[in-house]
Amino acid sequence: MTTAASTFHAITSAGPPVTPPAKSLGTAVVLGGSIAGLLAARVLADHAATVLVMERDELPEGGVPRKGVPQGGQAHVLLAAGGGFLERWFPGFTDRAIEAGACLVTTDRVAVYDDGVPRVNGADVRRLALTRPFLEDLVRAELRAVPNVKSLTGRVTGLEFGDTAVTAVTYESAGVSGVEPADLVVDAMGRASRVSDWLEEAGWDRPPMVRVISGVNYATAFFRRPPGTPGVGLAMNLTGSKYGGAASGAIAMAVENDRFIVVQGGYGDFRPGSTAADMVARCRTEHPEPFGRAVEGEMLGEVATFRQADSRRRDFCSCERLPARLVPVGDAVASFNPLYAQGISSASLHAGALSLFLRSEPDLDVPARAFLDLQRVVVDAAWSISTTGDAAAAAGAGTRTLAQRVSGWLVARVVAASMTDAPVNRVFVEVTQMLRHPSELARPGILLRSLLAARHRRPDPVPPLVREP
Ligand SMILES: Cc1cc2nc3c(=O)[nH]c(=O)nc-3n(C[C@H](O)[C@H](O)[C@H](O)COP(=O)(O)OP(=O)(O)OC[C@H]3O[C@@H](n4cnc5c(N)ncnc54)[C@H](O)[C@@H]3O)c2cc1C
Repeated sequence: MTTAASTFHAITSAGPPVTPPAKSLGTAVVLGGSIAGLLAARVLADHAATVLVMERDELPEGGVPRKGVPQGGQAHVLLAAGGGFLERWFPGFTDRAIEAGACLVTTDRVAVYDDGVPRVNGADVRRLALTRPFLEDLVRAELRAVPNVKSLTGRVTGLEFGDTAVTAVTYESAGVSGVEPADLVVDAMGRASRVSDWLEEAGWDRPPMVRVISGVNYATAFFRRPPGTPGVGLAMNLTGSKYGGAASGAIAMAVENDRFIVVQGGYGDFRPGSTAADMVARCRTEHPEPFGRAVEGEMLGEVATFRQADSRRRDFCSCERLPARLVPVGDAVASFNPLYAQGISSASLHAGALSLFLRSEPDLDVPARAFLDLQRVVVDAAWSISTTGDAAAAAGAGTRTLAQRVSGWLVARVVAASMTDAPVNRVFVEVTQMLRHPSELARPGILLRSLLAARHRRPDPVPPLVREP
């Protein structure tokens, strides 16, 4: 029987086809050359004679943020699902990334805290730690070795349609307008993608947008890290009700070029660490010792702040009138509360779903509903993890139904047990790293262990580097 969990497993483990399939597409055009577009391009290269990636930005060298990806300067954690995808589709990627300067953080160098209380490390997960622009550069370099993937610097301005399908992409490049005929169009233009407008203007259904207010504020800064620094490579601390009921958190991560990237995030009016002095003081006095250590070196540049108002998803599945030969991926479909670090890994799973879809030899002259159904499993999984708390907070606890209160209570037990019980922690980590479907947390064995774990003694909090007088 096919379940959401088994579909999720098929997508998370999808690798390149063992036998190269017949190329069913002439030209596939990918709109947007950021993470989701690049990963989709790799998958499409097995199925299209030519893959053309259109990106409006001139791409800077050297792993620096660029205009079209305004969040690129903020700390990005690459979850295990995204790291696994990169290794499967670009074999040797992890080693080449480390060779280029990325840090490999093994489980023994990960420290996760809840209000300073350390969590047990039950899962053996190797993580690549690097900045978002550096990761994008590495993926782009990998794609340069795929001969049928081409790129074009230009701004996509619209789509052309036949009676039943998308037929071409219109664009402007160096001041000149162009039209590129396409056998398949992939929308990877991020959360501000205009494809919904273009669909509506041409008489197709506009995918309804679902929003959940999160109102997350981020502040990120870099600090010099002595080369080869041993100790914690990735520290995360969630602080619960400390600030008027709103959760907040901090991450310190070793990244390329001998730096620590440090981010503090919070909800609502709470804007933590948005000045250099505040960032350093909070790391030294409010978070466990590794945070204080991470800000001991010289601060490099300024604190960069960012605010994301909501999580949002576009429900293509519910559209009755959709053109064939169009698929959306990445933030263009769903973008989440960044504290859960799901964006890049979601984009990689969308690419995995696209591969499974194309390998099933679908009829490309009808809307790609089979792809959208696969993708929905991924979006639902990520959405359920990252928006449940935000939605409850936005609605107010009093408005929840009995079923929601019971399930909220059970989730709280599992989360609490993941602090102290290694088997529960392992499943919890694998679910939050998007390696397993969230329904795995509701297995009877996990729920039972979680209830029994209430008897465990929680370790003492790890003190900050400097205790306030
Ligand atoms: C503060 C913050 C922190 C985050 N932290 C994490 C994290 O820790 N881990 C994680 O996995 N994710 C994180 N994310 C999410 C992550 O940044 C996104 O999910 C990811 O970048 C989405 O990639 P994308 O390719 O779908 O879209 P984008 O990266 O937004 O790229 C869209 C691309 O389309 C191009 N484009 C747009 N319009 C046009 C046009 N008309 N013509 C041509 N090109 C166009 C843009 O220039 C851009 O290159 C975070 C997000 C934020 C805001």
